[in-house]
Amino acid sequence: MTYTIEKVTTLIGAHRFGTADANIGFLLTDSRSLCFAEETLFFALKSGRNDGHNYIYDLYRRGVRNFVVEDVPADYNTTYADANFLKVENSLVALQRLAERHREEYDIPIVGITGSNGKTIVKEWLYQLLSPEMNVTRSPRSYNSQIGVPLSVWLLNEQSQVGVFEAGISEPGEMQALRGIIQPDIAVLTFIGDAHQKNFSSLEEKCREKVVLFHDTKTIVYCKDDEVVDRVVRSVGYKGENLAWSMSDRSAALFVESVERKGLTSTIHYIYNGEAGEYVLPFIDEASVRNSVTTAVVALYLGLSRERLAERMASLEPVAMRLEVKKGQRGCTLINDSYNSDINSLDIALDFMSRRPDHKGRKRTLILSDIYQTGEPLDVLYKEVSDLCVQRGVEKIIGIGPQIMEHADLIEVGEKYFFHDVTSFIHSKVFESLSDEVILIKGARRFGFDNITELLVQKVHETILEVNLSNVVKNLNFYRSFMRPETKLVCMIKADAYGAGAVEIAKTLQDHRVDYLAVAVADEGVTLRKNGITSNIMIMNPEMSAFKTMFDYDLEPEVYSFRLLDALVREAQKEGISNFPVHIKLDTGMHRLGFDPDKDMPELIDRLQHQSAIVPRSVFSHFVGSDSDSFDEFSAHQFELFKRGSSRLCAAFPHKILRHIDNSAGIEHFPERQLDMCRLGLGLYGYDSRDNSMINNVTTLKTTILQIHDVPADETVGYSRRGKLTRNSRIAAIPIGYADGLNRHLGNRHGFCLVNGKKAEYVGNICMDVAMIDVTDIDCAEGDQVVIFGEELPVTTLSDAIDTIPYEVLTGISNRVKRVYYQD
Ligand SMILES: *Cc1c(COP(=O)(O)O)cnc(C)c1O
Repeated sequence: MTYTIEKVTTLIGAHRFGTADANIGFLLTDSRSLCFAEETLFFALKSGRNDGHNYIYDLYRRGVRNFVVEDVPADYNTTYADANFLKVENSLVALQRLAERHREEYDIPIVGITGSNGKTIVKEWLYQLLSPEMNVTRSPRSYNSQIGVPLSVWLLNEQSQVGVFEAGISEPGEMQALRGIIQPDIAVLTFIGDAHQKNFSSLEEKCREKVVLFHDTKTIVYCKDDEVVDRVVRSVGYKGENLAWSMSDRSAALFVESVERKGLTSTIHYIYNGEAGEYVLPFIDEASVRNSVTTAVVALYLGLSRERLAERMASLEPVAMRLEVKKGQRGCTLINDSYNSDINSLDIALDFMSRRPDHKGRKRTLILSDIYQTGEPLDVLYKEVSDLCVQRGVEKIIGIGPQIMEHADLIEVGEKYFFHDVTSFIHSKVFESLSDEVILIKGARRFGFDNITELLVQKVHETILEVNLSNVVKNLNFYRSFMRPETKLVCMIKADAYGAGAVEIAKTLQDHRVDYLAVAVADEGVTLRKNGITSNIMIMNPEMSAFKTMFDYDLEPEVYSFRLLDALVREAQKEGISNFPVHIKLDTGMHRLGFDPDKDMPELIDRLQHQSAIVPRSVFSHFVGSDSDSFDEFSAHQFELFKRGSSRLCAAFPHKILRHIDNSAGIEHFPERQLDMCRLGLGLYGYDSRDNSMINNVTTLKTTILQIHDVPADETVGYSRRGKLTRNSRIAAIPIGYADGLNRHLGNRHGFCLVNGKKAEYVGNICMDVAMIDVTDIDCAEGDQVVIFGEELPVTTLSDAIDTIPYEVLTGISNRVKRVYYQD
């Protein structure tokens, strides 16, 4: 499906500069994701600090000729003589308008899904239920934002028979735009939970915003057992067809009579349209049962028979939401994406792989199953797969499955191998010879790709720290929202990124163009450089013995004393270095490190002016108490001192010296003191040090139950018989101890972890490598997962229990705990 550039111009009401003919098939908003340049229309979006207009020249060089802009480049008819610029007032609105017009071309049922949780699962399950006979076009992964929704709707094409799109909101007022783009015939509300509560004053307000999706919709689907939802829906005076479901109200459109759980399955008995039916679901958790009922209502409404529904429910697959990055055997890096095997999610995964900086000199390999997609002729489909691979720099492909094997000739990747199934691949020389490669493993669960991953990953200790990179980005944007677009940002990734792992965090931050990364010592900086990090790096505690390393690796030291300054200048002169950037630290009240902003200033300026080896790039100071209102007066005093000292320094040099003082809490509390740059630390990792609340959770420390004992009331647990029992108890042992960073003070019931969502207290003293927990009241078994901290159990609960701060708990997780990274 393509549009001519004339047509696009009309649809979005733009003023066109340029006359070249063009057909548009792809919409692009992130220049890094460019794939098919000739048919691409780039939307230069201005979002807070980033401005898409800055990437026009780069994209032009890479072959893009069509741009939607708010400002037309002055040299459009010389430099860009063969390009088209469509000038609009607001590029984001134009993108949304184009998607809206595109949507209106389709007279097929369109399902819009909103809710705090379960959107992606309901969407994917609906796809699994309907797709055997219907061609379903749906949002790839969880593309559900103001930008994601238009890009998803754009995927509707001549073959589409049903459209299923997610609508996600994070602020009041956003749903109106999404509703206009999706124009759902059927609007679905899944759950309303506390996720992303930050910008809403109450659950009810959030719910009100979500049901904006219901306005003017023919049919709505939701669960009326949720009191808030039911009240809000009633109050909007909805006139269309109401397909609410319920577990208690027989008059609901679908009434769930009973849910029987047996082993690993649930049987759901329901009444729909006056007729009884049932299906078996291969899951037993509450959320899955609810999501399945919501999905069932929509599928039945769209005409799926009860028999087909039952048949397909029984084989529903769990939805993998994440792209996982793991260390593999023999120097490989594995990117595991078992989300699905359709072409849109393949493109997203390939984009993710090609943007990671860790492939220098290592081959990029794709292991791909048959693509599961109805509608498109197979030779067209596999040609498309081949084009994507070539564009995204795949050097080796391993295709697994009869279909891809049959179309092997169409795949034009340099090195290629094909296998009928996973077993024959695993026993082949090709499998044996995988080494030093970045490997994307892409195939849905039904193809048995888990077996490949299992054999390729390094076996890890059962205790892992999961790191959600998508939430790092969300937190970054949360803090950026307090900052002016032009204010620069330093991200603090000292102490191995507050325990999260500096290398992966740095890659993510570099990809999101932060201005500076800051680590404590030179060695941390070297590790980043060796892993492909090219961003500016600041060293906060430079060692005198490591100056040469800093010069060699472009690591910019902080300078806080005359002794350090002299040594640095001497060493730089010896190495014949000039104008090496440094960062001057002033002590305004912490009394830790730094020059005195009044007394030291004349001499500091004098010494800096009488040498040319180093040059001040920035000057900064640090608040002692920006996280608490009680220090506001002192913070104001620090700021005055800093302004005075730094102004004198700045005035003494002709070049711009960046000034900065705000840390995470400061950015939020004193945005008016952001100056030229801010330094973001704890907030990036999801904790707001001002009120200990969670922004978006980044790290989850998990382990598993090793063994369970029934211990009688008169016995004790652990060393020194400290774990006295008062009743007959079930005690579970978990493989994590103080040597892993589980603070020993949490023992003896001072703290707890979560087992299957329930609190389990630490019993007795925590040992070096193992701890014991009380699971007497918890339904659990050996092998079950245990959460030490994470979304449901914030680190701050642990730090409060042992009278410390979240920083200490996070940075205390030892190196032997493997870090596993993923993206939603
Ligand atoms: C660690 C650090 C920060 C970050 O502080 P947060 O409270 O984690 O935001 C900022 N500036 C300096 C100098 C630091 O050492």
